[in-house]
Amino acid sequence: MSRAGFLLLVGLLGGNTLSGCAAFQSRPKICPVHGEQMSTVRGFAPATDVHVDPGEEYLDFSIASNSDKRYPNAVPWYFLTDKTKEWSRAIKVVVCRKCEADQNTAYEQYLKKRGIE
Ligand SMILES: [Zn+2]
Repeated sequence: MSRAGFLLLVGLLGGNTLSGCAAFQSRPKICPVHGEQMSTVRGFAPATDVHVDPGEEYLDFSIASNSDKRYPNAVPWYFLTDKTKEWSRAIKVVVCRKCEADQNTAYEQYLKKRGIE
C-alpha cells in the first residue's frame, strides 16, 4: 500500500464512521517491522492547493535505504507538528517510535557520508 493510501486509511478510521465499533478500536496497533506499539500523532500536512516535494537528498536516501520497507511507520516527510500558512491541513498519523528513530539515525549517517551536514 502506498504511503498516501495508508494515510487515507488512517483518516477514515479516525473519523466518526467507525466510532461505535469498540472491538475494532481496541485492536492493538503494532509495527510489523519492530513489533512496537504505535501511537497516533496529530499535526499538519500541506494544504490541498499547496504542492510540496521532498528534498533531493531525502529522495536519494529513501531509495538507497529502501526506507518504505525498513521504516514503514516513521513520521511522513511532509508532516509538521506546528501549523503554518502552507501546512494548514490537520491530520493524524499512526507512527512507530522505533521506525522514526531508526530512520532519523540512518538519514543522519547518510548525509554525513555524503558530506552534507
Ligand atoms: Zn517500526
